[in-house]
Amino acid sequence: MQLNDMSLLRQQCYIDGQWLEAINGEKVEIADPATHKVIGSVPVMGTTETKAAITAAEKALPAWRALTAKERGAKLHRWFELLLEHQDDLALMMTTEQGKPLAEAKGEVAYAASFIEWFAEEAKRVYGDTIPGHQGDKRLMVIKQSVGVTAAITPWNFPAAMITRKAAPALAAGCTMVVKPAPQTPFTALALAELAERAGIPAGVFSVVTGDAIAIGNELCSNPVVRKLSFTGSTPVGIKLMQQCAPTLKKMSLELGGNAPFIVFNDADIDAAVEGAMIAKYRNAGQTCVCANRIYVQDRVYDEFAEKLAAAVAKLKVGVGTEAGVTTGPLINSDAVAKVQRHLDDALSKGATLFAGGKLASLGGNFFEPTILTNVDKSMLVAKEETFGPLAPLFKFSDVDDVIEQANDTEFGLAAYFYGRDISLVWKVSEALEYGMVGVNTGLISTEVAPFGGIKSSGLGREGSKFGIEEYLEMKYICMSV
Ligand code: ADP
Repeated sequence: MQLNDMSLLRQQCYIDGQWLEAINGEKVEIADPATHKVIGSVPVMGTTETKAAITAAEKALPAWRALTAKERGAKLHRWFELLLEHQDDLALMMTTEQGKPLAEAKGEVAYAASFIEWFAEEAKRVYGDTIPGHQGDKRLMVIKQSVGVTAAITPWNFPAAMITRKAAPALAAGCTMVVKPAPQTPFTALALAELAERAGIPAGVFSVVTGDAIAIGNELCSNPVVRKLSFTGSTPVGIKLMQQCAPTLKKMSLELGGNAPFIVFNDADIDAAVEGAMIAKYRNAGQTCVCANRIYVQDRVYDEFAEKLAAAVAKLKVGVGTEAGVTTGPLINSDAVAKVQRHLDDALSKGATLFAGGKLASLGGNFFEPTILTNVDKSMLVAKEETFGPLAPLFKFSDVDDVIEQANDTEFGLAAYFYGRDISLVWKVSEALEYGMVGVNTGLISTEVAPFGGIKSSGLGREGSKFGIEEYLEMKYICMSV
């Protein structure tokens, strides 16, 4: 990997403003999921190093929280600018360790940076309240204060944005943070730390610890100094972390799995629906938690939609993300490929029709061809589990109430999408979908200005928007007798 600025490729952890090896010197090599070539190595840290990072965050807290919001915002703004100045290098690093096409990686860097810019500004808008007194001599106020030391555990599918979406509001609010990135994508996380250091964010305010997920996770969850944990990842791990955090009663934000329905009604603009489905299904090779997992198409437009979707899928180019024109990179690893194959085989064995794709791409390895299945029904695994790959199952429906029931028939409640034009239908369906986010006539809903998050088994809390900073603030009620 040839970066313009090779010092962004850090192979040590960043704790208390220092670049460190693991105490026992252990390292792990990280490979490119497209080529299997080793990119470099990172330390395998555990409990002791995590404790040190938490202690550093505790030590850094008083001075960081005592800065004015404007002062903290200025440092965050510099961090934001540095991400954009190094957008090309960060994108190349991300493509190399994660696989997504370079254009998508550049988009993610901009998206990741946008959270830092947004919360640099929001820091100044942490307003309190005054409340009319309940007795003549009482004056009541509410002020908001930072939660304190926080921790984040992040996934590999958005190696930069899932960190900044947590760290930016935390730091803006006056919290300090220890991050454990996904084992597959440590370099982007460490590059963010390098840029935070260059932005003048003080030692201990933002640390990154790589290594043994269980040991690091245990310490982050059980250490009483940590007052909040923010996690993005799978529902089973989220539940485990919540259990581990219970004895110390930490605040929690959990962004967990999804099983997004994508509904196309008879009166939809079909070309627009196809365009939206392409983004909602095939972006990041289908590896986003808001990816359309079940596509429901109403009977009169089912065939037209399937054909137009297949035509669009035929234009996708599978390959190594750094190559020109590639739209679909590899999946993250062989387990991910096996899961898509399992969902495909299960559907075919229960009567689904292979409408497009369906093979491991000719490149082999972790590549999987973008695929469409028709004649899908709810007995199949694709109806129940998140595929997390480039497989689009098309369910046919005729009745509106029936499709709403099917769309809601899942433990998950992150994102849902639908295309239709009748205004009363649009309202009815928007309100009836049991999801934290609904895209109406659009397949792309993520932005730093809106609250991202789910209900049911998809998690707790919201990230981004004016609401996102609340997750890192405590309310204090002051009752004054005058
Ligand atoms: P995925 O299947 O997408 O990798 P996971 O939920 O397994 O999702 O992983 C998301 C993040 O959670 C990663 O950083 C991973 O290392 C971390 N993780 C997984 N298991 C644990 C655990 N038991 N304790 C702490 N962190 C964990």
